[in-house]
Amino acid sequence: MSYQRPKGTADILPGQSELWQRAEAIGRRVFDAYRYQEVRTPLFENYEVFSRSSGDTSDIVTKEMYDFEDKGGRKMALRPEGTAGVVRAYVENKLYGPEFAKPYKVYYMGPMYRYERPQSGRQREFHQFGVEAFGVDSPALDAEVIALGSDLLKALGAGNLKVVINTLGDPATREAYHAALIAYLTPYQDELSADSKVRLAKNPLRILDSKDKRDQEIVEGAPKILDYLTPEAAAHFSAVRGFLDGLGIQYEIDADMVRGLDYYNHTIFEIMSDDPVFDGGFTTVLAGGRYNGLVEELGGPETPGIGFGMGVERVMLLMQKQTVTTSLPVYLVTIDDKANAAALQLAHAIRQQGYAVDMDFLGRKAKAQFKSAAKENAQLTLTIGEEELASETVQVKNMATGAQKPVAFAELRTNFKQLYEELLEADHE
Ligand code: ATP
Ligand code: MG
Repeated sequence: MSYQRPKGTADILPGQSELWQRAEAIGRRVFDAYRYQEVRTPLFENYEVFSRSSGDTSDIVTKEMYDFEDKGGRKMALRPEGTAGVVRAYVENKLYGPEFAKPYKVYYMGPMYRYERPQSGRQREFHQFGVEAFGVDSPALDAEVIALGSDLLKALGAGNLKVVINTLGDPATREAYHAALIAYLTPYQDELSADSKVRLAKNPLRILDSKDKRDQEIVEGAPKILDYLTPEAAAHFSAVRGFLDGLGIQYEIDADMVRGLDYYNHTIFEIMSDDPVFDGGFTTVLAGGRYNGLVEELGGPETPGIGFGMGVERVMLLMQKQTVTTSLPVYLVTIDDKANAAALQLAHAIRQQGYAVDMDFLGRKAKAQFKSAAKENAQLTLTIGEEELASETVQVKNMATGAQKPVAFAELRTNFKQLYEELLEADHE
């Protein structure tokens, strides 16, 4: 019996994981520059955490959630996105308290789960980097979060990017727009897709996000939310635009953009790429927005919030051309099985001084071991044979220059750092 991984999942193997580690290191560096700190929340939560925050009519809740009953009869779900769990943690841990700075800024990195049809850049287990900032309503923060998303993608080496923004306004905006949308769409009722017929009754805004061709044609003539903004909502949006202009961040406004989750208001944004790997058209790699009612929705005090999620697999497609080369400080070559004990001890002693060491376990010929050393980009090889065992020395070779010299075991055990630095100095002479 042999098994295959579940559909829509991936094994990230050595050879690929180096690129993931690089992405994570770059992510942490950029998040730190903007003063975001890491938060780690459970991979599963009570189902309601997601259904209340994403909204009952969202695709995520209606079609894509990995939900299950646990053995205690509780309805749970694997997280489909990061924000809901972070907001739950923010409320539960009372991070809105006066002892915490505002905005309270956190980032996360980790797997998300959605039951989707797998294809390139779309999996059932996928990964996001994301940020959330709580407690500040200023449009300057909206602009900073967009700048962060854009910096992050650039630092990761993503190209052909464009920033697209829109506003969903405040509750009064939504109410006026909602009515206008229903008035416009009702005459088309029978022509709408089955999904959109349901949306018309429950959440007409979501029809703007429909992937159905006929729905999209109908939507083209629909009223635009930008014409329904209250003066406050319009001022917020125009301030965000002003800050983006000041930062030199180019953007487009897409008045039909609504985003997949119910909780957004005011500024929403997506960063897309039309890099050739996405064969044809722009693909969204990072998306987010403001969600001023969400903390209250999950039982906390009225608290504004804003954030984004970035799809790591999609960004990875853009990073594929990058090669990661690693080097190995030491490869220990053993000429004879009798040298194994000494080699294990030396490797152990050098590793304890903070340097990576590899050695042979197959009893292969020296030539084959030197080949392995070269393949691993070893900087130094340490050779031990019968003679070296007797004299308690090794032959150290600088692989770049070919220079060789004998070094005593005792020195390797106690003083490797200095030796390593001296031996590699030779490279620069
Ligand atoms: P889409 O319209 O492509 O389904 P979405 O609106 O569902 O995207 P969000 O919930 O905004 O996506 O998630 C933010 C980002 O996470 C997306 O822009 C994308 O890069 C990534 N993402 C979302 N779903 C998947 C998935 N199933 N597999 C891989 N990446 C995903
Ligand atoms: Mg989706």
